[in-house]
Amino acid sequence: MRPTSVSAARLDNFVAPNKSIICHANLQIVLETFSHAQPASKYSLSNGAETALTQLADVDAVVVTHLHSDHWDDEAAAILDKKLPLFAQNDEDAAHIRSQGFQDVRTLTENTEFQGIHLAKTGGQHGTDATLEAIPALGQVCGVVFSHPSNKRLYLAGDTIWNEHVAAAISRHHPEIIVLNAGKAVFPGFPPIIMGEEDVLAVHKAAPEATLIASHMEAVNHCVLSRAALRAYSEEQGFASSLLVPADGETLAFK
Ligand SMILES: [Zn+2]
Repeated sequence: MRPTSVSAARLDNFVAPNKSIICHANLQIVLETFSHAQPASKYSLSNGAETALTQLADVDAVVVTHLHSDHWDDEAAAILDKKLPLFAQNDEDAAHIRSQGFQDVRTLTENTEFQGIHLAKTGGQHGTDATLEAIPALGQVCGVVFSHPSNKRLYLAGDTIWNEHVAAAISRHHPEIIVLNAGKAVFPGFPPIIMGEEDVLAVHKAAPEATLIASHMEAVNHCVLSRAALRAYSEEQGFASSLLVPADGETLAFK
């Protein structure tokens, strides 16, 4: 279902929480589409990927921040319309996606336009320097800022920890809404490879006026931060009123 007004930015948090749709300036842009069911664990229910996939039929574009299988997988690639505009972080990822049959694959830059929406690629890093060195498969990642004169500026940070890339994106773009992948995913023996509660607090301190949305929660089995724990932490630290932690299937709308 499409929003009726271009003045609302909206985030649909799917049954599978990674599979979010952002509606910006009346366009539906899918983020991080993946389809495989994750095995259940303490913090991840076996998700209803099939239910969510039906909602992919009506989107206008897809943004793939990187190619990890919890963001982009063969099954999702098989389902999507091959003519759909698809935005990749670099030429290498774009070539891979083209090889899966997609005909309109574009590489994000700091200055990408799509039907009136300005998309600005931002940096990120999927863990500390030491973790990246030890696990090169973590690879390159990006974020994106969506801007449109009649919408709130929305920054999707992507799979990154809090670092200078995120700080730079905030000071450069002054986002009003910031979507954070905040499940605190870990590889045993390494510090987290996406944001945990302290990273979310650091983002809040850098952008105290912004509304933060914690995504990527309780979806992927190596994520160790639950929604309840993040909410409790935000209350303790006094920033609960700036943080939204949507449930699976919940839609957030911003005027
Ligand atoms: Zn990733």
